[in-house]
Amino acid sequence: MTTTAQNLNLLRAGDPGYDEARTVWNAMVDRRPEAIVRATGTHDVVAAVRLARERGLEIGVRCGGHNAAGFAVPDGGLMIDLTPMGAVRVAPGRRTAWVQGGALLGALDAAAQRHGLATTAGNVSHTGVGGLTLGGGMGWLARQYGLACDNVTAYRIVTADGDVLSATAAEHPDLFWALRGGGGNFGVVTEFEFRLHEAGTRALVAEYEADAAHAPAALRHWRDLAAAAPRQATFEASSPGDGSVKLGFVWVGAGDPARLLAELPRPRVRRMSYLALQTRDDTTGGHTYRRYSKGHYLRALPDAAIEAFLAPSAGSRSLQAYGGAIADVAPEDTAFAHRDTRFEFTTGMRWTDPAQDAERMADARATAAALAPFAGGVYVNMLNDEGEAGVRRAYPAAQLARLTAVKDVYDPGNVFHLNHNIRPSARS
Ligand code: FAD
Repeated sequence: MTTTAQNLNLLRAGDPGYDEARTVWNAMVDRRPEAIVRATGTHDVVAAVRLARERGLEIGVRCGGHNAAGFAVPDGGLMIDLTPMGAVRVAPGRRTAWVQGGALLGALDAAAQRHGLATTAGNVSHTGVGGLTLGGGMGWLARQYGLACDNVTAYRIVTADGDVLSATAAEHPDLFWALRGGGGNFGVVTEFEFRLHEAGTRALVAEYEADAAHAPAALRHWRDLAAAAPRQATFEASSPGDGSVKLGFVWVGAGDPARLLAELPRPRVRRMSYLALQTRDDTTGGHTYRRYSKGHYLRALPDAAIEAFLAPSAGSRSLQAYGGAIADVAPEDTAFAHRDTRFEFTTGMRWTDPAQDAERMADARATAAALAPFAGGVYVNMLNDEGEAGVRRAYPAAQLARLTAVKDVYDPGNVFHLNHNIRPSARS
C-alpha cells in the first residue's frame, strides 16, 4: 500500500459497508469496485484521485447515487464515495449556503428553510446536490430563480492532477462556465456555494384529471395556461399510458394563485410546506427498483405532440414546464444550453424481475420514440445509455466545442470519463 492510501477509509469486498456503499438508486446497477474511498473532506478526495492514478484504476464519483446508468460505481475501479461529506452551512444574512460535494437535496432544503430561504433543487429529497447541480438542476423554483447551476457562485474542485481549485466568475472562469451544466467531467467538486432566496416556506399543488376522451382538449388548455403562467407556477402533467392525464401546477412563494386556479376545471388544491412538497415524490422515486427512463426537451408542444404523449403504450410519462428565469440566461453563458426549452418530457419504467429487463427498456424506448420528432435536445441528467449520441443531443455543437476545450485544459487524459463524457480533443 502506498503512502497516499494509508490514511484513507477504504472499503473492499467483504468489508462491512462495502455492499451498501456500492448500491445505488437503479437496482440494475450491480458493479463491484476494487475499493471504495469513504471521503470525509477535500484532502481525502485529493488522496483518492492520486491513488487511483497511481494504480491505474478507473474513478467513479458518488454523491446521491441517482444517475440511472450508475456511473458512480466503477467495476474493478476506485469509487470515491462523497456521502460522508453531506454537510450544509447557511449564512442567512448573506443568503448563502456552502454545501459539501456529497450532500443530498433534503439537507440543503432543510438547512435553508430554517431561515425561510431556499434555492432551486430537484423534486426528490434523496437526490444528490452534486450530480443534479453539475448537470443543470431543475426544480419548482427554477422558473423564479433559475436552474440550480445558475445559483452556484463558487465551486471547490479537485482536478485530475489532484490540485484543489476555486472556480468562480473571476477565478478559472472557463471552468466555472463548464461546471454549470457540464456534469462530472472536470473533477470532483467538494464544495458548492449557493445563492439563496426568500422563497417562503409554503407551497400549493393544484391537480385535476381528464379521462382519455377529454385528455387531448384538457392538455391543450393546460399548455396554453402554462405559456402565460406567473413564474411562481410550474405546470406539470402525467399520464400512466392509458390515454388519461393528470394535470396541474405547483405554486411556491409570494403572490396569489387564485386567478390561475379559476382557469382550472374543479382542481383538487392542497396546501403544504415547501419541505413537504420537496419530499412528496420520495416514495415513487424510491430505491430498490430496476429502472429505465428516457427524456426529451421540447421547444413547443404542438397538438401532434399532445396526441403522441397521450397515445396508449406501456410506461408512465410526464411533462414539466420550463421558461421564466431559466430562459433569462443566454444559452452561451453556461454549459447548460437548452434555455429555450418549454417542456421536459420524460418516460420511465420500474420493475423488479430481471427477466423483464429487455421488455421494459423497449417499452420506454418506444414511448420516447413517439415524441422524438418534436424534440429539441435532451437534459444531460436524463440521459441513460445513449453514449456519445446522447452527449451530442445534450450539448449543441458550440457548447460541445467549448466544453472540449475546457476538458483539454483540466483533464486532457480523460481521468473523469465515467459520466456523460466530454472527450478531450486528443482522444476524439
Ligand atoms: P450520482 O449517481 O451520485 O452522481 C451522478 C454523476 O454526477 C456521477 O457519476 C459524477 O459523474 C457526478 N457527480 C456527482 N457528484 C459529484 C461531485 N460532487 N463532483 C463531481 N462529480 C459529481 N434532476 C433534476 O434536475 N430535477 C429533478 O427534480 C430530478 N429528480 C430526480 C428524481 C429521481 C428519483 C432521480 C433518480 C433523478 C432525478 N433527477 C432530477 C436527475 C438527477 O439530476 C440525476 O440523476 C443526477 O445525476 C443525480 O445526481 P446524484 O448526485 O444523485 O447521482
